[in-house]
Amino acid sequence: MKILRLKKGKEESLDRYHPWVFSGALTDLLPENLEEGDIVGVETSTGRFIGVGHFQIGSIAVRILDFSNREIDEKFFAERLNKAFRMRKTLGLQRPDNNAYRLIHGEGDFLPGLVVDVYGSTAVIQAHSPGMHYCRETIARELTCLEGAGITNVYYKSETTLPYKARLDPQNDYLIGAFSGNEALENGLKFNIDWLKGQKTGFFVDQRDNRSLLEHYSKGRKVLNMFCYTGGFSVYAMRGDAELVHSVDSSEKAITLTDANIRLNFPDDGRHKSFAEDAFKYLDRIEPGTYDLVILDPPAFAKHRSALRNALRGYQKLNFKAMEKLAPGSILFTFSCSQAVSREQFRLAVFSAAAQCGRKIRILHQLTQPADHPVNIYHPEGEYLKGLVLYVE
Ligand code: SAH
Repeated sequence: MKILRLKKGKEESLDRYHPWVFSGALTDLLPENLEEGDIVGVETSTGRFIGVGHFQIGSIAVRILDFSNREIDEKFFAERLNKAFRMRKTLGLQRPDNNAYRLIHGEGDFLPGLVVDVYGSTAVIQAHSPGMHYCRETIARELTCLEGAGITNVYYKSETTLPYKARLDPQNDYLIGAFSGNEALENGLKFNIDWLKGQKTGFFVDQRDNRSLLEHYSKGRKVLNMFCYTGGFSVYAMRGDAELVHSVDSSEKAITLTDANIRLNFPDDGRHKSFAEDAFKYLDRIEPGTYDLVILDPPAFAKHRSALRNALRGYQKLNFKAMEKLAPGSILFTFSCSQAVSREQFRLAVFSAAAQCGRKIRILHQLTQPADHPVNIYHPEGEYLKGLVLYVE
């Protein structure tokens, strides 16, 4: 195994099981023929073995797969996948009325660089590191061997998640099996999942619990689902007996997906309307009091730390525009999925919006990601989804 050496004293976070080795922590003495995606060992400056991981070029140089000197082979992946699946079984996510869930959440399942979402008999893999890209065939095979998971098709979708400079030229395609239907169930609701062309793996399973909470508040309300994408929140609001549900997304494709999912569950139901429009413009043009339950679930405004300040301004502006227009006695579900934005920072942005519009606002719930997106306690960066449910007088 190729060995990388840490600079003196740079093992501190690794000794606390944080799974990332930053490039600045490594000595210049790199082994010959070191290639992106290689499995490497990491040692302290005094030669103490720390762990084994995938090497890549970039600010995170190594993602540790195990804090021991072990083989990263089929057995390793079989073990990790089985443990992850056993945990999902404990969570009760595989049921006759629910077959969409996240099976592998990167560091949260001790497999940094890997995401796997399951939709019925199809697993969709996303590799975020060259190392995981090279392991994709093994991972796909082991997924179909998971007893009780019922995975027969494995689709690989990493064209947009792998570092461009690595020149891996990944093709989105089935590694095992083929297309065999794309209807998945979430809490008894049907969704068409577009893993071929959709964002991420085709669906945002991470909002499952929050969508359920929304359903609970929907009865008799006029609902606006902003940034609706596949219409997840809208479908739950319909089942929750909302008076009307309006879905907005700037992408025509998203609106088509939303309309299809509404039809799938509530054919010929006149309560739903959709609008392919920019969120900010839509909020500007509506009359105050049109809605009394609003969801704001925008894309990550800050993909990197450098964009943090603008992102916070964006969250403030968006929330202000919504708060301004809410009917008295409204409920606002507001989210941030930017990893670079902390819970406190997001709350401060929403607080600033509230102060700016001067209304009486209380926090009813503080939301996060569901249990199938676990946070490795040694890797707090894994907590990315933040939400607030507000009551607006
Ligand atoms: N709430 C969704 C996920 C939202 S993803 C769910 O539960 O599944 C973010 C969505 O915001 C994308 O569909 C994207 O097309 C849309 N979007 C991005 N910028 C936008 C804008 N300025 N106005 C409206 N929609 C926008």
